[in-house]
Amino acid sequence: MNTEKIIKAGQIAKQVKEYARTFIKKDMPLIEIAEKIENKIIELGGKPAFPTNLSINEIAAHYTPSHDDETKAHGLLKIDLGVHINGWIADTAFSMDLENNDENKKLIQTAEKALENAIKIIKEEISANEIGKTIQKTIESDNFLPIINLSGHSIEQYELHSGITIPNIDDNKNQVLKKGLYAIEPFVTTGNGKVYEGKPSGIYSLKNIKPIRSQTAREILNFIEKEYQTLPFCSRWLVKKFGTKSLFALKQLEQADILHQYPQLVEISKRKVAQAEETILLEKDKIITTN
Ligand code: MN
Ligand code: MN
Repeated sequence: MNTEKIIKAGQIAKQVKEYARTFIKKDMPLIEIAEKIENKIIELGGKPAFPTNLSINEIAAHYTPSHDDETKAHGLLKIDLGVHINGWIADTAFSMDLENNDENKKLIQTAEKALENAIKIIKEEISANEIGKTIQKTIESDNFLPIINLSGHSIEQYELHSGITIPNIDDNKNQVLKKGLYAIEPFVTTGNGKVYEGKPSGIYSLKNIKPIRSQTAREILNFIEKEYQTLPFCSRWLVKKFGTKSLFALKQLEQADILHQYPQLVEISKRKVAQAEETILLEKDKIITTN
């Protein structure tokens, strides 16, 4: 663990989050929001650890604007952003109500409260299940439901989701947390509390490197290997670098099973979802790196 880089990535994420809160307004194009966030990360000396997720209402996660996206910010918007320095990651998210809607505000407050309660109890040797129990209790006492098939996770260098899961419910498993880096991310909904896999997101990650015939695809694969390694990236970034020919190359790389494309994650009853997330370093002390 490179504590120094973990802390630096966290501080950048925190600053970008504060910046994002100041400029995000209803009807701003999502593509403009994503680019402002990602440019700020670079300006502050980091790199995006994954494409900025800007998921609206019932889309819980994995929406990032495509290069020609015309969607405008509205509703209950979740902003999930990541920073890395040499693969040491900060992963953080917050939600905004762009409608001055009481239910949105309550969902957001509950997500933040659940996160806060989870952060209070996380420590070395606690069972991940205990954290899930606290998140679930907090959310249910506000008469909402947690999303049961989305969860927090351990983080390692260049590995956004490494082995350990931090559930948003009591999952009856007994996974004990050791020293390390963790993201806690409660999702709160007025719906049934589960997500399904929706449309393709345009967010990809490298799965296994194999030979590919197309020269363009090869060129793009080389770039992905070098620039993103095992971290997620998106079609928008590649269109910026290589133009729209990269879209066909991405399709070929996905068909060859070299790339994995993530689906959008949508609440099954199509009800609204709020999210809050921080990254926590458990070492001698507990450090919330992103706050
Ligand atoms: Mn996240
Ligand atoms: Mn996360």
